[in-house]
Amino acid sequence: MALVDAVHRFTFEELAVRGALVQLQDVFQKTSEHAQYPEAIQSLLGQALCASALMSSTIKYDGRLTLQVQGQGALRLLLAQSTNSYGLRGMARYDGDLPAAASFAELTGKGRTLINIQADKHAQPWQGVIDTQYPSVAAMIEAYFGQSEQLDTKLILFSKAEQCFGLLLQKLPNENSDDADGWDRVCQLAETLTAEEALSLEAAEIVNRLFHEETVRVYEPHSAFFNCVGCADRVEAMLKQVDRAELDALVAETGQVEVTCEFCAKQFAYDAVDLASALASNAASASSRVQ
Ligand SMILES: [Zn+2]
Repeated sequence: MALVDAVHRFTFEELAVRGALVQLQDVFQKTSEHAQYPEAIQSLLGQALCASALMSSTIKYDGRLTLQVQGQGALRLLLAQSTNSYGLRGMARYDGDLPAAASFAELTGKGRTLINIQADKHAQPWQGVIDTQYPSVAAMIEAYFGQSEQLDTKLILFSKAEQCFGLLLQKLPNENSDDADGWDRVCQLAETLTAEEALSLEAAEIVNRLFHEETVRVYEPHSAFFNCVGCADRVEAMLKQVDRAELDALVAETGQVEVTCEFCAKQFAYDAVDLASALASNAASASSRVQ
């Protein structure tokens, strides 16, 4: 069955616990189709996409959440972004050998993960950091919420080929339940979910199967979609960091400078005239900084 790209939020009414579930297929395909990642990297990318959407679902904001794993091992960079309306994109960089069946910690080495939330109305992003010494992306995010936000969180992530799934459960801050075992119970129920079920059943059926003995309120799902906005701006910003003489030499040699967006594989070509105009705005902003 093809998965419908969407985020489904729900709450356990008597437990002061919230939940969210995400399934992605079209988004994951569009994110990864141009890159041909090795299986281990592809899997991590799917998990990171789901994690970014689920983390975004836990906050009320207009903007973009970025999950950025900066690895020191075979995985150099794993990046996933979700807007508040679940516009998603992601990419990975890796090198060297990818050990089969390596854990997340082994693939990343002594890395660190940045969680960045850029709200549209705030100039300064909010940023959190956690190290990557965890067996999985899910374990790392759970630890992050526990350490940085003091929020008990359960996260389950599955990713296979071009399908991925995430389920997040979280105790609501500042709310208590009379049902002291409720949190442990729903976490244990969530753990019974198999990858096969997660990547084949409809979201509503998964929630129903896992939690049919709980009082669950399910909200209208939100569509998730592939969203690579601002490519051209980012490419120009990158060009401005490159030595001008190097760019001129490239244009002299090949007639143009070509840059490819790493998120969507869109190609941008700058000939001498394009390059001059792209870099001219740089001169203006540099001079305005000098003043
Ligand atoms: Zn792009």
